[in-house]
Amino acid sequence: MSRPTPGPFHAARNGPQPGPRTGAARPAEVRCAVCGTESRQSRFRPVPPEGAPDLDLRPGEPLRGTMASWLQQCPHCGYVAPEIAHAHPAAIEAVGTAPFRALIADATHPPLARRFLAYAYVLEETGALHAAAEATLQAAWAADDARKPDLARAWRGEAVALWRAGPPLDAEQTVRVVDALRRAEAFEDAGTTADQLAATHPPDAVAGVIALEQRLIAMRDAGRHTVASALPPPSRRPHASQTSIARRGTSLWDRIKGFWRRG
Ligand SMILES: [Zn+2]
Repeated sequence: MSRPTPGPFHAARNGPQPGPRTGAARPAEVRCAVCGTESRQSRFRPVPPEGAPDLDLRPGEPLRGTMASWLQQCPHCGYVAPEIAHAHPAAIEAVGTAPFRALIADATHPPLARRFLAYAYVLEETGALHAAAEATLQAAWAADDARKPDLARAWRGEAVALWRAGPPLDAEQTVRVVDALRRAEAFEDAGTTADQLAATHPPDAVAGVIALEQRLIAMRDAGRHTVASALPPPSRRPHASQTSIARRGTSLWDRIKGFWRRG
């Protein structure tokens, strides 16, 4: 499946990723690709996280606290994307639909969460189900921050449904499904999914996190935990000498660990 997600969100897994160019966003006049309205928008420049990510790979600070800058929104038509100057043809249609209008107008949802849900809807309409899952999980993060646990649980459940509706998930993504289920208090589903993944003998980093998930699920712990609780110190980790392990060295988990260990 092609992934039409534009802009910095190409990191469909974990929101904006730290890139070589970091620093303050510079506002500029941007023409909305859906309605043509010009507005002043900032293009987000990610800053590398220094703290450990959560088990669902929500990045550590300072990146964690920048969610309000991850998406642009057209003030006229409400189109939401990392860069509203670009739009998938299906996104242009989606913005005009009643469900989209309802999502951006729903005052019972925290405004930031609304933006991520609207983006998730656009992505789903373009067929990018895993990217839509990611944006829905990010809506749940916004609900966490707004202290709306019921909404956060519901949106984690929706994110899992979108992940499962898309192409097969790799081991890293399956850990995130387990974490979303656990935090949504769907402990039975979380436990079954965790056990299935553990039985496949996944890479070390994944195995460490899944073991922690299994302990948390057994304790009915639906709280937030970071990958720092799950991973052994770097000196105790095996050397990446074999080809298969070296390949794992480029995995998302390893890159993320690399970011926060520098801090
Ligand atoms: Zn617009």
